[in-house]
Amino acid sequence: MRHVPAKHAIKPVKSLGQNFLTDGTIARKIVELLEIEELDTIVEIGPGEGALTKLLLEYPAEIQAIEFDRRAVEFLNSTYPKVQYPKFSLFSGDVRKFPLLEFSQEVIDRTKHRPKVIGNIPYNITSDILFQLFECAEKLNRAVITMQREVAERIVAKPRTKDYGILTLASLFASKPKIALLIPPESFYPKPKVDSAAVVFDFTEPMISTEQFYKVMPLVRSGFGQRRKMLSNSIKSMISQKNDIQQDIIDGYFSKRAEELTPNDFLKLNSALGR
Ligand code: SAH
Repeated sequence: MRHVPAKHAIKPVKSLGQNFLTDGTIARKIVELLEIEELDTIVEIGPGEGALTKLLLEYPAEIQAIEFDRRAVEFLNSTYPKVQYPKFSLFSGDVRKFPLLEFSQEVIDRTKHRPKVIGNIPYNITSDILFQLFECAEKLNRAVITMQREVAERIVAKPRTKDYGILTLASLFASKPKIALLIPPESFYPKPKVDSAAVVFDFTEPMISTEQFYKVMPLVRSGFGQRRKMLSNSIKSMISQKNDIQQDIIDGYFSKRAEELTPNDFLKLNSALGR
């Protein structure tokens, strides 16, 4: 039996980024992007009134939801009681405090499958959430995240465009990202002021390891910290006195600006810097 939540069981709070998905067709499309298989474990960020949760529960997968709003936690616990929904667990708290890496490792040890992540998330903490996922990339299979369309476009931006930047590089290093679905404001209550998009991040063939990710991102951040300046200025502090630096390669990049460098260029420059 499918559960239909009472209309607006929770009064939406702006500070928690609460825009509840009301379009059932879109909800189903988003869930299908997760390509759920048996033995999958799904982490849902910010389930709210359960627009996605109720569809996820139609699958045989384990679900670990993470919700900050106590009212939503209470609502979900009473709608999906443990006795009837033994595969549904709810962590009450801030997703940024959830030990995703340890959780994922435990899932892999137990099921031999990496978890999948889904969320129509609070847009004000999109960046925090994405970096939390990127840092767990080696332990995740994929993520389907609904975010503000502008942010989605930054993720898939090309070099030499104004959207190209830290988020683009981080996404490409950790995953294969793709805008899979555009979602109009009318699909939510209340209507957000912006368009939305569901982005799929495939973590199964990352460009670099998490270890390399931690090494190259400081260079990317410095480069784009002053994106109008030549790299010789913006990354001055990253030049070490080590003798394993490759000066000729560094010189080749120094008259360029960060937005002119491809992901591969950043990797080459980083290793030329001996980092
Ligand atoms: N996924 C639901 C709700 C989207 S609104 C839907 O599609 O309808 C965003 C949800 O994230 C809300 O339920 C909000 O309470 C929750 N949320 C906000 N900040 C959070 C945080 N720091 N950690 C976890 N959940 C959070």
